[in-house]
Amino acid sequence: MRRWCHAARVPGLKGRLLDAISSWWVITHGHRHPRIIEAIKRQADELDQVIFAGFTHQPAEDLARALIGIAPRGLAHVFYSDSGSTAVEVALKMALGFWKNQNKPRTRIIALEHAYHGDTVGTMSAGARGVYNAAYDPLLFDVVRLPFPQAGREQQTLDMLKAAAPDAAALIVEPLILGAGGMFLYPPEVLRALAIICRRNGALFIADEVMTGFGRTGSLFACQRAGVVPDLICLSKGLTGGFLPLAATVCRDELYQAFLGGGFDRAFAHGHSFTANPLGCAAALASLDLIEAPETASRIKAIERRHRAWIQRLADHPHLRRPRALGTIAAVDLDTEELGYGAAVAPRLKAFFLDRGLLIRPLGPVIYLLPPLCISDQQLDRAYQAIEEAALALRDTSP
Ligand code: PMP
Repeated sequence: MRRWCHAARVPGLKGRLLDAISSWWVITHGHRHPRIIEAIKRQADELDQVIFAGFTHQPAEDLARALIGIAPRGLAHVFYSDSGSTAVEVALKMALGFWKNQNKPRTRIIALEHAYHGDTVGTMSAGARGVYNAAYDPLLFDVVRLPFPQAGREQQTLDMLKAAAPDAAALIVEPLILGAGGMFLYPPEVLRALAIICRRNGALFIADEVMTGFGRTGSLFACQRAGVVPDLICLSKGLTGGFLPLAATVCRDELYQAFLGGGFDRAFAHGHSFTANPLGCAAALASLDLIEAPETASRIKAIERRHRAWIQRLADHPHLRRPRALGTIAAVDLDTEELGYGAAVAPRLKAFFLDRGLLIRPLGPVIYLLPPLCISDQQLDRAYQAIEEAALALRDTSP
C-alpha cells in the first residue's frame, strides 16, 4: 500500500510531499489508489452524470445499500449531496421538517461549544461563532450551546441538555472528537449519555461523522465505539476515498416516513445538481470494498499503536502540551500564549513542515496528524520527529 501515500506536487515546492493530514481528512487509503482509479474509469465509460430527481442509477442504489449495511443498525435511508456542509445542512433541515410535518413546535437545535459543522448558513449557525463567521452573525440562527464536556465538567453538559432537550428539534454533535474546533476528545460514555437524554426527551440525535467516519476513530464510525445509534448520520470526506466530492445523510425510517404522503408541501424538497454523481458513487463503492479488507483493519491498528507510542514520548517535550490520540487521529498543542485557529504560529509551523516535505497544517497551535491509512511507521516517525523539532524551533521565536 505504501507507494500511494504521497500527495501531488505543490507549486513552488521541490520534491514530493508526505500527506500527513489526508488533504483535509479526505484521503482514506492513500492518494491515487489503483482500485478507485479503475472504478472511476469504468463508470465514466458507462454513465458520467444524470439528474437525480425522478431518476436513479445503479452505483447510487448499490452505494445506498452498502452504506445501510455498514452504518449503525437502524439507519435505513440515504440522502445524497456533495460536501460535508451539505450533509449536515440536509440533516438539520430533515430534523426541522420532521417536526414541522407532525405539527409539533420543535425548532431549536442544540450544539456543542467548539463545534464545527461546515460553512453554509445552517451549519455555521450550529458551529462555534468566531472570526470566520462573524460577518454573517445577523443571519445565523440561535442554537442552545452546551459547554464542551471536558473532564470533570461532563455533568454540567448533561444537565444543560436535560433542560433543553424536551423542547428541542435535535442535538448535533461530532462524536468523540471535535475536529476543526481544536481536536478536543471526549469519552464514549458521555456520547452515550447525550444520546440517551435525547431519546428520553424525544429530541433527534444527529451524528456529524464527516471527519470521524470510515475508520478514523478506530471503528468504522465513532458512534459504534459508544454503542450509539443516531437518528441521522452525516458522511462525506473519506466516503469516496478522497477522490471526488460526495456526501450522504443516512436516517432512520421514521424520519423518511415523515416526508411521505400528502402534497408536495410534505416532501423533503432539497437537491443539488450533482446529487449522487455516478463517478463519486463508483469511487465510494470501491473505497468501501477497500475499507472492508482485513488489511485495512490492521493498518488502522498499526497507526493507532504508533500514535500511542509517540504521544507518550511527546508528554515529556518541554514545549508540547496535551498529547492525545483516538484511532488514526493524534494531536498535540504547542505551548503558546496565542490560542485559536488564527494564531500567528500556525502558518510558521506549516511552512516549517513544508520545508521538510510534510503536509501538516495546524489548527492554530494545535498540531495534528490524520494520515491516509497507507502511511508506514517510518513515515509517521518522520512526521513526529518534525513536530518535536518544530516545537523546539518555533515555541520561543517571535514572528
Ligand atoms: N463537519 C465536520 C465534522 C467537518 O470536520 C467538516 C469539514 N472540516 C464539515 C462538516 C464540512 O465539510 P466540507 O468542508 O466538506 O463542507
